Amino acid sequence: MFGQFLREGAAPHPYALYLLGAGAVLAVLVALFGQWGALPMRVGDAGVAVERSAGEVDRLGWCDVNAVQLTATALTFRSPGTVVSIPVRAQREAAARALAEARTRIPGKVTGIQEKALPKPSEGAGRVLTLEPPQIAGLRCKASDKVITFERDARLCGRCGEVYHKDDVPRRCATCEAPLRA
Ligand SMILES: [Zn+2]
Repeated sequence: MFGQFLREGAAPHPYALYLLGAGAVLAVLVALFGQWGALPMRVGDAGVAVERSAGEVDRLGWCDVNAVQLTATALTFRSPGTVVSIPVRAQREAAARALAEARTRIPGKVTGIQEKALPKPSEGAGRVLTLEPPQIAGLRCKASDKVITFERDARLCGRCGEVYHKDDVPRRCATCEAPLRA
């Protein structure tokens, strides 16, 4: 019943993508808990997010990010409607993970940020969460502008989360250029 992520496969090509069956686990998020006082951050297939309180998550999908900025105090992701800011001291692991993910998923948006501005993210930092099914009905296909009425008709780019109608999936993602079909 859920929209299907086009996931990156391990073989044969590193960027090859394949379809997950409907109803399969969609994705995982990494929740990165920092030092005392900092809000938990989430980084993963659904983008970057901050947990304001239980059940209240401000999320910014990779495909919606139009600017990334790194200052001495914060790594900030912006879209026209949402800003997610990760404090680089209190949430260093989260910031490192988010920057590394952004370099892979939306490389064009982080070209201005120094290669070694943040350390490599360490495996095992944070906690893995299962992503809730995304709210897709009512969104428009990025390629055809068709309104997606049924979630089963949706296909999501596994790299940036861009949304397509199943009949209009382009060869390459219009947002991040990931190959979506052979
Ligand atoms: Zn994409």
